[in-house]
Amino acid sequence: MNLRTSFAILMCKWCRALLRKLGRGGTDFPGKVALKICPDILGRVAKNVKVVIVTGTNGKTTTSRMVEQAMRDNGLSFFCNKSGANLLSGVTAEFAVNSSTWSGTCKYPYALIESDEAAFKAISKYVDAKVVVVTNLFRDQLDRYGEVSHTLENIKIGISHLPQATLCLNADDSLVASIAQDAPNQVLYFGVNTPIYKERVKEVSDAPYCVRCKHRYVYDYVTYGHLGGYRCPNCGYHRPTPQVAVTEVISSDAEQSVVNIAVDGKEYRAVINLPGGYNIYNACSCAAAGKAMGLDMPTVIESLSTFECGFGRMEKFPIGKTSVRMILVKNPAGCNQVLNFLSNASGPVLFTVCLNDRDADGTDVSWIWDVDFEKLCDMGDLLTAIYVSGVRADDMALRFKYAGIPLEKIHVEKDYGKLMDEVTDQEAPVYIMPTYTAMLDLRDKISKKYGFEEFWEK
Ligand SMILES: [Zn+2]
Repeated sequence: MNLRTSFAILMCKWCRALLRKLGRGGTDFPGKVALKICPDILGRVAKNVKVVIVTGTNGKTTTSRMVEQAMRDNGLSFFCNKSGANLLSGVTAEFAVNSSTWSGTCKYPYALIESDEAAFKAISKYVDAKVVVVTNLFRDQLDRYGEVSHTLENIKIGISHLPQATLCLNADDSLVASIAQDAPNQVLYFGVNTPIYKERVKEVSDAPYCVRCKHRYVYDYVTYGHLGGYRCPNCGYHRPTPQVAVTEVISSDAEQSVVNIAVDGKEYRAVINLPGGYNIYNACSCAAAGKAMGLDMPTVIESLSTFECGFGRMEKFPIGKTSVRMILVKNPAGCNQVLNFLSNASGPVLFTVCLNDRDADGTDVSWIWDVDFEKLCDMGDLLTAIYVSGVRADDMALRFKYAGIPLEKIHVEKDYGKLMDEVTDQEAPVYIMPTYTAMLDLRDKISKKYGFEEFWEK
């Protein structure tokens, strides 16, 4: 028994209980307190816990929820971090509160940790990860973490702390796949063997040049962003063949996708309980994680049809005459995916964007000019209206105006209460795309106004 460890755990649990009592969902503060008392607390409380880490720029929350369901359905005893507690302090707090009070021994043999891509190199120093899933690497907002290559380097450093972990890497992402080059780890690639969308999406690629020799890639097909069947005609670097692959997209609508997933050549029919092409990738990465963990594959595939989506990841609220779906966005790639999804809608939709520029959102909102909002014009009458809200609502309205959206369709409403009244007073499904802090404010408003549970209760 170590007194310092015990005290740190006790203080962490106490702070968290106090914050909850005050009705606050604070996820980082209790962990910061514990780290202050005992800087290597995470290494102590995570000792002997088999950890699965999910990292990458987009899709890690949804992937984590899918893996969570798969682990539960396979009967594993584990805990996981939620509610955006994916920095060192948040992860520390999760381990501390899930450990027995005095000895610092964890109550669970397994843990599933979603790790912020920048925090991964710190977290990986202290935990014994058996599996690491890297979803993808997209350029984040301009003022967050710098260039995508910098993020790649950070993830490589993190992986160097975990030579015994099996890496589940996105074969279709030239940056992620390149991680395998210098790593001694066992690698399991996952990917999508076929285009997802009918028409090729015009997007700015975040990684057009070969990661080895800087020559421009040739693509046999593109799924979205810079993901797809790339190869370098100069040095020969190319998409590796994935062991876990989506071989066919059978259907994809506003509620779900049905795909065939091959695992080591054996095909499974999977119903993915969330719409959108990027969720097909998330499902595929979950299947890879399941294989790396040695879970029963039919059970893993079945889990994809039953898991509950994460906070703000296509989260659905039935309100008034309609249903509202909330889709958190934090970078141009994620935003373009939402637009791909909307522009493939078969019925009318109402679109809402809530743009904030606080620290957690990224203070520079110029990224909205990199997003292909122009494609909404092709939707014609299927796009019934666009509402804009948030601190930078006027910037967003201006962006839509320049995209060529008819002015009579663009509505600015900065009051969230009035916004919700207006968008739910009609029948078309509502898709709200908020930035992070806008989502917290909006989610709070929805909880209070319509009686949905607060997010930290989930
Ligand atoms: Zn090359």
